[in-house]
Amino acid sequence: MKIVDARVVVTSPGRNFVTLRIETDEGVTGLGDATLNGRELAVVAYLRDHVAPLLVGTDPHRIEDTWQYLYRGAYWRRGPVTMAAIAAVDVALWDIKAKVAGLPLYQLLGGASRERVRTYGHASGRDLPELFDAVRARLAEGYPAIRIQTGVPGLKLVYGVRSGALSARSVGPAVEDWDTAAYLRHLPAVCEAVRNEFGPDLPLLHDAHHRLTPSQAARLGKDLEPYDLFWLEDCTPAENQEGLRLVRRHTTTPLAIGEVFNSVFDYQTLVTEQLIDYVRSSVTHFGGVSPLRRLFDFAALYQIKSAVHGPEDISPVGMAAAIHLDLAVHNFGIQEYAGHTEATGAVFPHAYTFTDGYLHPGEEPGLGVELDEEAAAAYPYEPAYLPVNRLQDGTVHDW
Ligand SMILES: [Mg+2]
Repeated sequence: MKIVDARVVVTSPGRNFVTLRIETDEGVTGLGDATLNGRELAVVAYLRDHVAPLLVGTDPHRIEDTWQYLYRGAYWRRGPVTMAAIAAVDVALWDIKAKVAGLPLYQLLGGASRERVRTYGHASGRDLPELFDAVRARLAEGYPAIRIQTGVPGLKLVYGVRSGALSARSVGPAVEDWDTAAYLRHLPAVCEAVRNEFGPDLPLLHDAHHRLTPSQAARLGKDLEPYDLFWLEDCTPAENQEGLRLVRRHTTTPLAIGEVFNSVFDYQTLVTEQLIDYVRSSVTHFGGVSPLRRLFDFAALYQIKSAVHGPEDISPVGMAAAIHLDLAVHNFGIQEYAGHTEATGAVFPHAYTFTDGYLHPGEEPGLGVELDEEAAAAYPYEPAYLPVNRLQDGTVHDW
């Protein structure tokens, strides 16, 4: 079997998605997600101009060799653009291999380790009544665990929520404001109120979006212990992995990190020193199913669990790959699931299901996702940025 074509499809049914389609001489095709939110076209060029020409004529079954060829062969390693491009190739080749085998991908990853995949959903509100309403809405949808994000008194927007995600190129990214001291004072009261309203059993998560220093994160983790969070996410920027030692020394609140990571090396200290409880990378930004599976196996040695990043900007192709992996690995923790618009579902018909808050990849051979290119063509690329964040004196801060 030979690869005869590898092409990139960009579509924007509500938000931009970049999809790689690999075609073989035997008519079997595979899909991979290469969406890098806000920097989509960089990955398109990387795939179209530098990767696709290398794939034509090669054997699609040689997944590991192709991965190493693209990773080591480029000389330049790591980075989100490179790893999103390699991820798309890796996932498309797994899709082809599983289709040829006539099996859903999870079967090639060792088979199911569970019956279904537990998810968490997002609830956000500017104030407590709005947040409570959002939590009730997620519970009504069946979500068994919920991430709570809240407005902070004195700030204009609910932080960490993509309210400005689709701002047009002409005006640039939306600008949000931030006050760490106000946030640290406010959040424990919010968690207490949510606990009082919804009881002790509901797993609650919270995302600090990299906005704290290690000592601020340590204090927050300690302040939130009475409210028994499932995890505190991205409490401090983890380029400085050693910073997590300070956080860990001071709190038993579980810690989750990694949605902006794209290599196992980003996790080395965090995992070997057991400074975190969940690894949060996505299939799409971590180089594909192959390296993410290796990360989970590495993390398992230290009793750390998986929690694949799954916001709306992971396409149904990337989401399907995640769900197959979630079903197969032993140290699965939880899957973030934000769902997609109806238009996105029409562009990417898929076999995976979301039922009573749990996902299942379905039993179609391969990933179980198609790309309707005619439907995709009706939604051309739309320039869009993630928001940026500034302190009240104008200094740029983490978003
Ligand atoms: Mg996050």
